[in-house]
Amino acid sequence: MTGDYLADSKRLVVKIGSALVANDDKPRHAWLELLAKDIETCLQRGQEIVLVSSGAVALGRRHLGTGSLKKLEEKQAAAAVGQPLLMAALSDAFASHKRGVAQVLLTIDETENRRRWLNARATLDALLAAKMVPVINENDSVATDELRYGDNDRLAARVAQMVGADLLILLSDIDGLYSSDPRRDPDARHIPFIDDLSADYDQMAGGRNATAGVGSGGMVTKLAAARIAWTAGCRTAITIGDRDHPLMALSGAEKATWIVPPTTPETARQAWLSGHLSPEGKLIIDAGAASALQSGASLLAVGVIDVEGQFERGAAVEICRADGQVIGKGLTAYGTADIQSIAGLQSDAMANILGYRGRPAIVHRDDIVLGNIA
Ligand code: GLU
Repeated sequence: MTGDYLADSKRLVVKIGSALVANDDKPRHAWLELLAKDIETCLQRGQEIVLVSSGAVALGRRHLGTGSLKKLEEKQAAAAVGQPLLMAALSDAFASHKRGVAQVLLTIDETENRRRWLNARATLDALLAAKMVPVINENDSVATDELRYGDNDRLAARVAQMVGADLLILLSDIDGLYSSDPRRDPDARHIPFIDDLSADYDQMAGGRNATAGVGSGGMVTKLAAARIAWTAGCRTAITIGDRDHPLMALSGAEKATWIVPPTTPETARQAWLSGHLSPEGKLIIDAGAASALQSGASLLAVGVIDVEGQFERGAAVEICRADGQVIGKGLTAYGTADIQSIAGLQSDAMANILGYRGRPAIVHRDDIVLGNIA
């Protein structure tokens, strides 16, 4: 490991498990304040943080009066009761810093369906621009069994991928990955650094967290999360959260496992856009728009001359000059029919034609990759 990865990161996703948030089904206010203090230190030095917090079920269940929650709908009801309690506890923790928290509940749909993914990302970007702390949880009360993450480790990794984070921190009750389960094997070896995420690590991750009864993520899900982050060029840190300095400890000598991919979020995103998505249509653009794209701008409707193919918002499309030369690829924020009606228009005229206020760009600059796309 070289350098201080915590201080070096620009956009962080921090995941906190139920055992950190709740004890005896009540919020752990003192710890949440320690966390808020560390998050505030990061924000003050210009870093952006998205918090992924579990604890809705843990905080809600005692209010349900059914004892242990056996049925899925009981858990979902507990989450519905607990989620506002979770937000209230987090809001209290940040109050002395005058920092706003914002609840964003996601289902697997938002992270796996590009159309919805674009919306969720735009919301998170707006919250980060407003210097708020977005607090994400799975929308447990509506997510159905086969369509839910069930653990926030992988949800946090998907969020890291969505917002282009460069660091994912999984705060847990174990200080990282071991060669075997340290609670059973006295010879278990702590692994501080991984820069080659081979399948061997999945073998090592056997044995669940001691708190698996409270939260749902064991080492296996943490490693699965790290793998998602890895493909997105995002580093992962796994460490103990229950410390006086839950985040700052990562800049010190405290034990952790760091999983560091060879790519950056930017290069991973470019590779994903150029390599993995088959184009469903074409946007033909004028010379002015083509040169604006070269200097890093988004593609606006005014620069679009024509559209080919039938596609929906969120589709991958080729971006071509009027002579047919393909100059790049991107994810479109509008489907064919809308683009046909707004092509060539200035942004302020778009809402009247569309009948709703859509995104200003047809393809956002973060969703464009330029160059000779195979
Ligand atoms: N979404 C669940 C909750 O808030 C927790 C999932 C997990 O523990 O990873 O209770």
